[in-house]
Amino acid sequence: MTALRDLSIRRKLSLISLLTSTAALLVACAVFGVYDLIAFRRAMVEEAWTDAELIGSNSTAAVMFRDRVVAAEVLGALRAKAEIEAACIYTAAGEIFAQYTSPGAKEFVAPAAQGDGYRFAAGRLRLFRHIALDREAIGTVYLQIDLHLLSVRMWSYLTIIGLVLVLSGLVAWLLSARLQRVISGPLLQLAATARAVSTERNYSVRAAKHGHDELGDLIDAFNEMLAQIQDRDAALERARDQLELRVTERTTELRQEVGERQRAQAEAQVAKEVAEAATRAKSEFLANMSHEIRTPLNAVIGMTGLLLDTALNADQRDYAETIRSSSDALLTVINDVLDFSKIEAGHMELEQQPFAVRDCVEQCLDLLAPRAALEGIELVCLVDDGVPETVISDVTRVRQVLVNLLSNAVKFTHVGEVVVSLEAQACADGRYELHFSVRDSGIGIAADRMDRLFQSFSQVDPSTTRQYGGTGLGLAISRRLSELLGGRIWAESELGRGSLFHFTVVAAAVPPAAPVLQGPQARLQGRRLLIVDDNAASRLMLGRQAQWWGMISQTVASGAEALALLDGGAEFDAAIVDRQMPGMDGLALATAIREHYDEGALPLVLATPLGPYDEDVRRALFAAVVSKPIKRSQLHAALTGALEHLPVTAPVLVGDRIDGSLGQRLPLRILLAEDNVVNQKVALRILQRLGYRGDLAANGREVLEALRRQSYDVVLMDVQMPELDGFEATRRIRRQWPAGGPWIIAMTANAMREDREACLAAGMDDYVAKPVEVADLHAALERAGRHLCAAPAASSESV
Ligand code: ADP
Repeated sequence: MTALRDLSIRRKLSLISLLTSTAALLVACAVFGVYDLIAFRRAMVEEAWTDAELIGSNSTAAVMFRDRVVAAEVLGALRAKAEIEAACIYTAAGEIFAQYTSPGAKEFVAPAAQGDGYRFAAGRLRLFRHIALDREAIGTVYLQIDLHLLSVRMWSYLTIIGLVLVLSGLVAWLLSARLQRVISGPLLQLAATARAVSTERNYSVRAAKHGHDELGDLIDAFNEMLAQIQDRDAALERARDQLELRVTERTTELRQEVGERQRAQAEAQVAKEVAEAATRAKSEFLANMSHEIRTPLNAVIGMTGLLLDTALNADQRDYAETIRSSSDALLTVINDVLDFSKIEAGHMELEQQPFAVRDCVEQCLDLLAPRAALEGIELVCLVDDGVPETVISDVTRVRQVLVNLLSNAVKFTHVGEVVVSLEAQACADGRYELHFSVRDSGIGIAADRMDRLFQSFSQVDPSTTRQYGGTGLGLAISRRLSELLGGRIWAESELGRGSLFHFTVVAAAVPPAAPVLQGPQARLQGRRLLIVDDNAASRLMLGRQAQWWGMISQTVASGAEALALLDGGAEFDAAIVDRQMPGMDGLALATAIREHYDEGALPLVLATPLGPYDEDVRRALFAAVVSKPIKRSQLHAALTGALEHLPVTAPVLVGDRIDGSLGQRLPLRILLAEDNVVNQKVALRILQRLGYRGDLAANGREVLEALRRQSYDVVLMDVQMPELDGFEATRRIRRQWPAGGPWIIAMTANAMREDREACLAAGMDDYVAKPVEVADLHAALERAGRHLCAAPAASSESV
């Protein structure tokens, strides 16, 4: 069947007609053959029957009279029939009466006589017929006929059939070969047309139609399809032509555009380079300017500081203090402008160092404490328990934003309080969002001016500028810095009621380097504490802190309430008393309490803002003192000290850290390298104030000479000096004394962070910015001393 499938349609049609005609012929021949066979056999039987009857009637008398000879003669007549092989006549009793055998027959054994009937078997017809006389059987005739004739006839019949088949097949083949063209012709032509279309892609050719039958319909449909394709092809061709035209036009336009853009880009590049060069020049100019302004300012601030240390009358002190505060303000302005231009130029780089968040906030408050004390403003710090102790960020910049907000708050507040709060929220990535807020009860900001708040160089109210001063850069810088720190800044305010500034910083938390006072404290747990403070935020902060350490605290807002509580029989292990309260102040309250309770019964802790007070009175009344704004570590030390009746602790006040006997405590041989005569004087005086006597070198070359003459522990190295600058001098020192050289502290008016890094890269050990502050140099010398004595770092201070 598969082989048939791949034949050509012409062959298939011829083969189909040949096979069908032959099959039909075969069936007909078979039917005729079978019919003929049956008819022939029937004729044979009838003929044999007649012969037997004839023999029977002819031999009736012979059988009756037992005349065997006559009977044999009757049988002998059968010789004329060649097909009769043998014959017998039986008596009625079944005995063989007469017998005949044809000359060519083989040996014959007569069968036993039977009733009328015949049988075809073993290529023979056997037939029995009784001989009747008056309807009574007197004997039987038996005929045995050879069927040879029948098979001869069959063979000849088959031969004829074969011949007929061959002949008719030939005729059918010839006929079908001619007739199949009626069907195959149009089909083949259609196939040829389709091939031509597909190979030449010529859709204009058409297949010829030969009739109106199904093939005709198929050819019509095919031609119709070709016509449609031709139409579509033509449409496509037209569209392609149009498209090509459009593409060519667009390409030309694009080329023009690209050309213009390239020109614009080139121009922009040139402009960018010019702008970058200008920015670089601006940065360099600012760096230079800042250096140039800082150098004389260094002298002004340093000398005024020294002047204030001398005996002055009231007027002179007032003038000197004005000079000092004005130069401080000038320095702030310079720093602001420098910061702002650095941020604008995208040069502000942030450090990523771990620092103690609470310390940072407390230090910022420390800075503002003197001014707040002067104004009589309460400064309170509320750090939420959930705030991580140590985080990684740029502490300098965090401090800068916080100090800016705090100093604005203190500047614009005349009564009441400034409260700094810090909360933390864990972010999805494991870092924390630190949320600082600074709330003041100051003059507030009008709603319609709020939008100008964080814009650079904008004062929300020019009249306040005249009254309070300021460049209007502080909040703009703060906004940029808080964005750089991963957070944002915003404000709420009400005119006349106060302002609330928020800023956030996103930072990763790390475990603190030193142990911290977190959670219940063994020495404080379960102790009862009375808190007396008129300021609600202060009470909240003290109460919260005491509770965090496991103490049981009770807060009251005035001395009268405290006394009423004590009179009522309430018992406490200690009390914290605010010094400044309306009505009955802290000292009056303490005096009243002491009338009933001695120090052992109820130790008192004084909470006092910065400012002078009578040390003897304090000693008589109080077991310990904490300075406001209250620091956690100080509060802890004061409370444990008071509860254990340790000697009175004096508060560590800002400014008290300057130790005039540092030189005796930490003797150091110091070489000062400085070319500017005024700066030499300032630095030598500061050293003198700290208890040191420094030697002088006017440039790097002199430093090297001095070091060859004698050894120094510390070199205070100015960076910009004639002949040999500080960088090169340091490199040479490090080369010449690879081990055991002096500790080199850079002292430079180049205040940018890169400058500090450049100093350290050149081989210097520490850095102090000009104008040199006594406290900074003090700290730097302490660090040097610690390093030189290889004493352990005072890490316990960090609680
Ligand atoms: P400046 O250095 O002039 O203080 P800032 O950018 O820090 O510049 O502040 C801009 C202006 O915003 C201030 O001049 C003041 O008018 C207003 N301002 C800032 N903080 C406060 C505040 N806490 N209370 C009232 N006004 C404020």
